[in-house]
Amino acid sequence: MEDRIRLEHGAGGEVMEELLREVVLKTLTLKSAGGIGLDALDDGATIPLGDRHVVFTIDGHTVRPMFFPGGDLGRLAVSGTVNDLAVMGAEPLALANSMIIGEGLETDILVRILKSMDSTAREVPVPIVTGDTKVVEEKIGMFVVTAGVGLAEHPVSDAGSKVGDAVLISGTVGDHGMALMSHREGISFETELKSDVAPIWSVVKAVADEIGWENIHAMKDPTRGGLSNALNEMASKANVGILVREEDIPVRPEVKAASEMLGISPYDVANEGKVVMVVPKEHAEDALEAMRRTERGKEAAMIGEVIEEYRGKVLVSTLIGGRRFLEPPAGDPVPRVC
Ligand code: MG
Repeated sequence: MEDRIRLEHGAGGEVMEELLREVVLKTLTLKSAGGIGLDALDDGATIPLGDRHVVFTIDGHTVRPMFFPGGDLGRLAVSGTVNDLAVMGAEPLALANSMIIGEGLETDILVRILKSMDSTAREVPVPIVTGDTKVVEEKIGMFVVTAGVGLAEHPVSDAGSKVGDAVLISGTVGDHGMALMSHREGISFETELKSDVAPIWSVVKAVADEIGWENIHAMKDPTRGGLSNALNEMASKANVGILVREEDIPVRPEVKAASEMLGISPYDVANEGKVVMVVPKEHAEDALEAMRRTERGKEAAMIGEVIEEYRGKVLVSTLIGGRRFLEPPAGDPVPRVC
C-alpha cells in the first residue's frame, strides 16, 4: 500500500478496492451483525431481525459543482442512499442527513440543497428523520453524508448471479458522468447532457412485484466506475463470466458524442439513477416489461447473460462482431462525481 492517499483511492475502481481490502477491512475487526457485513463490500449491510432483515447503508457526497445539469448535491445525496438500499432489496424506511458546511457558504445555497433533498425524498417517499450539522473553517462549500435504513423480506446481494441468468439494465448508460464532465469542460451539444440522478426504488419494486424477490439473483447500482465496474464486481463475486452485447447497451447519442470527444468510455463513468439486475432467463422478459412500465425504466434493456466460461471476467461482443474483455477502470475517469 502506498504511503499517501490519492484521489484515485476514492474513485470506485480497483485502486479503491485495494485500499478497502488492505487497510479498511484489515483494521476494522468486528464486521458483521449476522447478515451481509463489511467484508462483502456490497452496497449495504443486512441485519437479521425476526423473519426480516434490516438493511443499513451510508454514503458521503462531495460532488462538484454542487449544481449540475439534471441535478444537484441534495438530489444526489438522497438518491445515492435510497438506491443502495433498493439494490439490497430493501424498502427505504428512513434517512439520516449529516451536513458538513464550509464557513462562508451562502445560506441560499444551503436552502436550495435542502429543498432538493426534500423533493427527492418525497418522490420515494422516505422521510429524513435525523441529522447533524457541522461548520468548518475550510472553504469546502458543502458535503452531505446520508445514511439509510430499510427493510427487506429477501435481501439481494451483488454476488448471486448464476450461469444462464439474464443481465438487465434499467436505462441508458453514462449519463451522470458524461453530463458532469461536459459541464466542467464547457462542452455543449445540441441536446443538453443531463445527469440521470434519481431514486430507483420504484423500478426495483416493480420487478420484485412481478417476478418475486427470490427471483432477483443479484443487483447493483452502477455508480463510480460505471457499468464496467459493476459488471466486473458481479462476475468476480459470483465467480461466473458475464457476456454483454454492445449493440444492446443503451447509450444516448449525445453521451456517445461526448465520450468520443473526451476519449472516455460511457461504460466506465458513473450512473446515479440506474440498476443492473440479474434474473433467471425464464423471468427476464417479465422483469424487463415491469421495468419499462415505470417512469425511470422506460429505456430498460436486456444486455447480456451469465456464462460459465471466463469466470470472474466480463466480455463484450462488439458491433463489428468481435469480442473483448470489458475491464474495470482503475478509478472512475471523471473525479468527484458523487
Ligand atoms: Mg451502490
